[in-house]
Amino acid sequence: MILNKTYVETMTSRLQKARLSRSRMARTLSYSALLATVALAVTSCSNSVAPSPYAGMRVVATTTQLADFTSAVVGDDGVVSELILPNASAHQFDPSARNLLDVGEAEALVANGVGLEPWLEDLTDAGAFSGDLIVATEGIVLRDGEGGAKDPHVWTSPENAAVMVNNIARGLSEARPDLRASFSQNAAAYVEKLALLNSWATEAFASVAPEKRLLITNHDALGYFVDAYGISFVGSIMPSLDDNSEPSALEIDALIERIKEVGAIAVFSESTLSDKLATTIAREAGVAVYSGEETLYADSLGATGTAGATYLGATIHNVTVLVTAWGGTVPPLPEGLTL
Ligand SMILES: [Zn+2]
Repeated sequence: MILNKTYVETMTSRLQKARLSRSRMARTLSYSALLATVALAVTSCSNSVAPSPYAGMRVVATTTQLADFTSAVVGDDGVVSELILPNASAHQFDPSARNLLDVGEAEALVANGVGLEPWLEDLTDAGAFSGDLIVATEGIVLRDGEGGAKDPHVWTSPENAAVMVNNIARGLSEARPDLRASFSQNAAAYVEKLALLNSWATEAFASVAPEKRLLITNHDALGYFVDAYGISFVGSIMPSLDDNSEPSALEIDALIERIKEVGAIAVFSESTLSDKLATTIAREAGVAVYSGEETLYADSLGATGTAGATYLGATIHNVTVLVTAWGGTVPPLPEGLTL
């Protein structure tokens, strides 16, 4: 009994001591956490008193594709913010307060040009932009658009994308000669991937007979892509290069007739537009509709985490969807084509 009592007492005492030391340890821990917080606050206070200048470059890009190209060129040497959000139309833009701040702080602004950003001047005025404006499509042979205008969807051809990347690298280097070496090295590495992408896509489309490469989309955004891979553009649901227009009942009927006439087998929806009309037209014409996860990326890249979040990913996705729909064979991705 006595032995048992002593045993219990000893154990109780040990347990109490252990509890005590644990709580002491906890107090010590929370105290050091507090110290760390204070130290951090002191550091950030002293930072706000004497801010160290940001050594990297701040750049703003208008479209999702341009932001992706620019990020590839800038690498770790800066911050790139995009104006147009993923899956949004590239033809309209409503700036937020954040956008204006970004534009005001930017050393360079990368734009598409070719009439895609009629809002750009208002934006740079409102945001008090004082950096370099880089027009990425400079020097590219433009397709004719409608009404004497040129087709602004230049990026959809990987060869054009390579020219755009080099234009961006040159423009950024002019703005920041101290980062030139890094920019041109990054651009060269990315252009190499675009070349791999282009030969892979060429091989993929070659597995489909040219007369079967018949494309019908929501709006006429893939002209440069169509030219690059010998695709025949049958028609678009929106009667214009812009995606704000609505087709008339007559135009819809004419497109359905045209789909039947040429023997197309599918209508492809685009990620930035509703697939409702595409679905109706495909049903009326008795062909398949590719929408949802099989929607094409044209005016915009996809959201982070999706297949279309990058230009390389979006193009691989588009080629895979089209070639598969047309009954072709998609070759394996080349080794150097990492996303
Ligand atoms: Zn468009």
